[in-house]
Amino acid sequence: MITGKITGLSVTDVRFPTSLGQHGSDAMHTDPDYSAAYVVIETDAGDGLKGHGLTFTLGKGTEIVVCAVKALSRHVVGRDLEDIVNDFRGFYRQLTSDGQLRWIGPEKGVIQLATAAVLNALWDLWAKKENKPLWKMLVDMDPNQLLSCIDFRYISDALTEDEALEILQNGKCGQKAREEYMEKNGYPAYTTSCAWLGYSDQQLQKLCTDALKEGWTRFKVKVGADLEDDKRRCKLIRSMIGPNNQMMLDANQRWDVDEAINWVKELASFKPLWIEEPTSPDDILGHATISKALSPLGIGVATGEQCHNRVMFKQFLQAKALQYLQIDSCRLGSVNENLSVLLMAKKFNIPVCPHAGGVGLCELVQHLIIFDFISVSGSLENRMCEYVDHLHEHFMHPVSIQHAAYMPPKDPGYSTEMKEGSVLLYQFPEGEVWQKLMASKQMEV
Ligand SMILES: [Mg+2]
Repeated sequence: MITGKITGLSVTDVRFPTSLGQHGSDAMHTDPDYSAAYVVIETDAGDGLKGHGLTFTLGKGTEIVVCAVKALSRHVVGRDLEDIVNDFRGFYRQLTSDGQLRWIGPEKGVIQLATAAVLNALWDLWAKKENKPLWKMLVDMDPNQLLSCIDFRYISDALTEDEALEILQNGKCGQKAREEYMEKNGYPAYTTSCAWLGYSDQQLQKLCTDALKEGWTRFKVKVGADLEDDKRRCKLIRSMIGPNNQMMLDANQRWDVDEAINWVKELASFKPLWIEEPTSPDDILGHATISKALSPLGIGVATGEQCHNRVMFKQFLQAKALQYLQIDSCRLGSVNENLSVLLMAKKFNIPVCPHAGGVGLCELVQHLIIFDFISVSGSLENRMCEYVDHLHEHFMHPVSIQHAAYMPPKDPGYSTEMKEGSVLLYQFPEGEVWQKLMASKQMEV
């Protein structure tokens, strides 16, 4: 039973000082402190269940997202959970179309990150009430109920509700076998942990050797700061992983369009599968130009981690501007908006390869991509989910990776719950970790 009126919504600024070890460093984000605006929702149901949700940030600015969550909370507190999930489309629209708040969006930037954090907590709570991991709840749902969670406004020219229904109905065929396949083999992953831009060659070699031993076959390399340096690092990684393993490149928006084409041509001999975020994440036609220029070299364009809503994704697909679509569990408006993007990707026949890493992104997005395989795409061709080996120890139900694959989570919910001790320690700025760092002047905050 999905009972309970929402009695409280709290939000905490949680930051991990990852910049101290250059973890997560790339051509544009040289010193990220992986952080989250972390939301907890409580009800009066008396069953002890809480909803936990988050959105991912890089440190500074998390306090702004926290403010935005507080601004949205008036739409949540006092509402009946059952009423929300029975008209989730209406509730999504209420959050994203608040007559005053939408001016600071709409459906983009800080306010959309905050929307994601709030909705992620609600989906977590719903799945816990159903006593299922979120992916399984989605897989078991009736196609019409799934559709009732999606706002089709602004995308109906690319995907109608009838077409979406047909995709989901077709997805029911063979679902059982695909679910069993996932339970046995998991969803294929690739690692970004080996080749952050700030790592030394020695570090790259060691991490690559360890990853190969663990069975990883797909590796992502950060590029874009210095061409000669990129050539050296790509050569090193390619020589270590051999010709048959896959290598992807990620420039994190570093280049202009022509610069991107020329730079990637210089790296083509290392046989990358894709170039990720070659230019501004908003430049749809620029991505289309790059895609066209790199197509003869067999290199695709991947993007999405900073694509802020379904309308942008629609245009990327319509413009043939990406060959690999990277959904993000905390950038888009939670499961609701991600469902619409998964369905559009299916219609346009573009593989989804989710963005993950950061803090909690792996925990969340594994649910979406496992659902996608079982109920939407039905395929693993050209598909894989990003994995980064950081900060999982802070979660109650961390991801389980076996043989370089995400094993389907078994615990009820969206795997979003952080350990209370971790939240206390890393709360910014009052947590003990930050108090010590500030006292020792190790970090400027
Ligand atoms: Mg990336």
